[in-house]
Amino acid sequence: MPLLARPAEPQFARLPPRRAMIAANVDVLVVGGGPAGLAAAMGAADSGASVLLAERYGFLGGNATAALVMPLMSFHTDRQVLESGEGKLFPEDHGPGEPVIGGVLVRLLERLIAARGGVRPSKDTGYVVPFDPEVFKGVALDLLDEAGVTLLLHAFASDALIKDAQLDGVVFETKSGPLVVRARAIVDATGDGDIAARSGAPYDIGRDEDGLVQPMTLMFRVGDFHREAFLAYAREHPDQWRGVYGLWELVRKATEAGELDLPREDILFFATPHPREVSVNSTRIIEALGTEVWDLTRAEWIGRRQMRQIAAFLRKYVPGFEDAYVMQSGVQVGVRETRRIQGEYRLTAADILSARKFDDVIARGTYPVDIHNPAGRGTTLKKLPPGEAYDIPYRCLLPQRTDNLLVAGRCISGTHEAHSSYRVMPIAMATGHAAGIAAAIAARTRKASRELDVAQIQSELLRQGANLGLDRSRNA
Ligand SMILES: Cc1cc2nc3c(=O)[nH]c(=O)nc-3n(C[C@H](O)[C@H](O)[C@H](O)COP(=O)(O)OP(=O)(O)OC[C@H]3O[C@@H](n4cnc5c(N)ncnc54)[C@H](O)[C@@H]3O)c2cc1C
Repeated sequence: MPLLARPAEPQFARLPPRRAMIAANVDVLVVGGGPAGLAAAMGAADSGASVLLAERYGFLGGNATAALVMPLMSFHTDRQVLESGEGKLFPEDHGPGEPVIGGVLVRLLERLIAARGGVRPSKDTGYVVPFDPEVFKGVALDLLDEAGVTLLLHAFASDALIKDAQLDGVVFETKSGPLVVRARAIVDATGDGDIAARSGAPYDIGRDEDGLVQPMTLMFRVGDFHREAFLAYAREHPDQWRGVYGLWELVRKATEAGELDLPREDILFFATPHPREVSVNSTRIIEALGTEVWDLTRAEWIGRRQMRQIAAFLRKYVPGFEDAYVMQSGVQVGVRETRRIQGEYRLTAADILSARKFDDVIARGTYPVDIHNPAGRGTTLKKLPPGEAYDIPYRCLLPQRTDNLLVAGRCISGTHEAHSSYRVMPIAMATGHAAGIAAAIAARTRKASRELDVAQIQSELLRQGANLGLDRSRNA
């Protein structure tokens, strides 16, 4: 099928000037309703700000719902889920599993569990949180509603409105024509750093050596899975299944038979709250960037072809999947990595792996450096020392050269390697929570975000239930 690609020698058309309706004037505008944006909006509203959250889709959740990314990764120390397991869907955990993130994440979690759309993290789940994306959408709406956040859906942020060299608002493309929302402080929770980039903030993309980013993955949910039959197979073939991934021998056979054409050597899937369902994370689209429409088009096409191959493979080769069918795929391909906005500090893999502490900590994480090979097969996994967590400093949320803008979630400032850890949803929520609170304080005090007293942000985070580990000894 012909897919439109970037013209080799593009020509350009001049667009007529246009005007936009000013739809709202608020204290805090949050752009993007993914995990980071949800937490930012709730944090800002709970701090007393008037808040508008704008999202391009007709529902909330970002990757969690639009891309069917599941489960919420572990936010506990001593996680072992990716490397042990011997024939269990979720392996034994060897550590105490101390949570290092609280606040909005925990509120979301409690509501998911109460609505039977989430499973409490424990040894049995490998400390991850399996959830139901449809329940997630409803719970997210309830939480924002209760917090008093104003919502604008179906609004794609296309530009930054700059006034007197300062970011004054954001332009949205909608079915009602272009709209402008003005705000005293803005949180860019688009995942891609769209607003920061449009505001002129510098950013990095990909690995230092070749600019390649982590692959994209079209996620899908498979129903009519027979868990016991699969677990029996996994127990009989302990060298072929490690908790949530494996089947190397079967993948090799199917690849040799021309039935699978994947740039990965194994199959990765996770349990969900529903015993007869799994969430499959096994398509892999390499050398594609989520901020390029040409690459996104190609990725959707390749992802759907791979999904059909994997579904047929599971049915034909893997015990427990004989009756399985694809019940849902992502509204869009899952994008792991795009722009990393250059901030006042750039978090590194060394910071993460040494569990570094910072005086201006606003969030913490325990998730390993986890890089799906940007160029093909293989995944790099580097864990923190047992019992340890790392800090994310406030400076990672402050884009250079822009004053009333904060970034949150997967586009904060860090290296490609560090990003592979802090990109996961619980940590995105933790940075979102902090960004929302900082934006509310900036709006109230009329100060630039980089002039705020970090102790004030920390104190409000703690009041709202965040876990900053501030009782621990700090080394920076
Ligand atoms: C395939 C895959 C598997 C993953 N596996 C896991 C996992 O198992 N567990 C885990 O915890 N994490 C996992 N992750 C990582 C995690 O899903 C993301 O990094 C996380 O969702 C980032 O949150 P975010 O809020 O920063 O961005 P996103 O989730 O990307 O949310 C951004 C939101 O902004 C909206 N938006 C974007 N641009 C605009 C715009 N211009 N205007 C208006 N709205 C806009 C989007 O629609 C979206 O709602 C995975 C990611 C992928 C892609």
